[in-house]
Amino acid sequence: MNDVLSVYVHIPFCLKKCYYCDFASYTDTMLTEEYFSSLIREINQKRRLFSREIDTVYIGGGTPSFVEADYILKIIAALRAVALIKEDCEITIEANPNSLTKDNLKKYTDAGINRISLGVQSFFDDELARIGRSHTAAQAYGAVELMHELDIKNFNIDLMFSLPNQTCESWSKTLKTAGASGAAHLSVYALTLEKGTLMFKMYKEGVYAQDDDLDRKMYHAAKNILGKYGYERYEISNFAKKNYRCMHNVYCWDMQEYIGLGAAAHSYFGKKRFSNPYLLKEYIAVEDYCCFYDNAVIEQESELMGDFVMLALRRNEGIDIDKFHSVFGKEFESVYPHKADKWIEMGLLISKNGMYCLSDKGYDFASMVMRDFI
Ligand code: SF4
Repeated sequence: MNDVLSVYVHIPFCLKKCYYCDFASYTDTMLTEEYFSSLIREINQKRRLFSREIDTVYIGGGTPSFVEADYILKIIAALRAVALIKEDCEITIEANPNSLTKDNLKKYTDAGINRISLGVQSFFDDELARIGRSHTAAQAYGAVELMHELDIKNFNIDLMFSLPNQTCESWSKTLKTAGASGAAHLSVYALTLEKGTLMFKMYKEGVYAQDDDLDRKMYHAAKNILGKYGYERYEISNFAKKNYRCMHNVYCWDMQEYIGLGAAAHSYFGKKRFSNPYLLKEYIAVEDYCCFYDNAVIEQESELMGDFVMLALRRNEGIDIDKFHSVFGKEFESVYPHKADKWIEMGLLISKNGMYCLSDKGYDFASMVMRDFI
């Protein structure tokens, strides 16, 4: 499974904390300079892990477009100095509509960034305000225009549904706007309530209620409407035009190796899963960034098998039985006797050419099916 190597770089700074956000993101930028020095130190120390060419780089956050573009360029240069980055490497950067400028975009593309992921979420000001986003719908339209002005074809738009007071009508309009935007890729996630967030508190206090039926209706609308605009759902939450799947994510779902850099960044490498400290100060204070890899334990085979199945079920191709055998040297049926049959009988799983994939109905019960294999 280890043909491909990817890199994730975490930029943990944001203009404002969104009400639902539980990512490692901070509005205090005092430590920006120190943070980027530490990132470069980490890249240099991890040089021995970059033992083969890098296929994808994903610069996420936080809000990478919120920091000076020169910081991003320094990170890319530091990576190029210690690792071989494939000529056709997919290099993505996340950007928010209110911090993306034409100058920065030009700097990104000159440095080899060839995919932009826009955190739009909704094309309605009231919906954006209710989840604490710092940008407006007009800025979202502006960011899309910028993509066309600079002839950037490979761009993604992130959208969210099940937002407070969001209606099927407004969601359909957001989907249609995104569908007509020319974006090559759309990520569509339901709002999730994470403990410790302001959104979770609002929910507990009754300010906002969740409606499971509406949530499913909105998810189905996404598949139907985006299908009409030529997007294929290739993963539970991701839709792409032909040849524009996000390869960084595809490789992660395929259990290929990736190395995470920066605060709270996770890695999967050498059959080990490990992560960096979450807090900025703790991350900056690390002396040896390889220690998390060196001290991590190799994952048990049963865990790896569970990960393999769960990640495969997220994708429309599903679980490849032959691949399971070639990776683990065991028959799928001997490891998970009768499990697939049970879900097939319930109409949630489909068996097709040696693959088990979720049925349309199965997508609504994906977590339940996945849990059964873990
Ligand atoms: S922009 Fe993204 S990372 Fe930053 S606070 Fe909002 S959801 Fe979190």
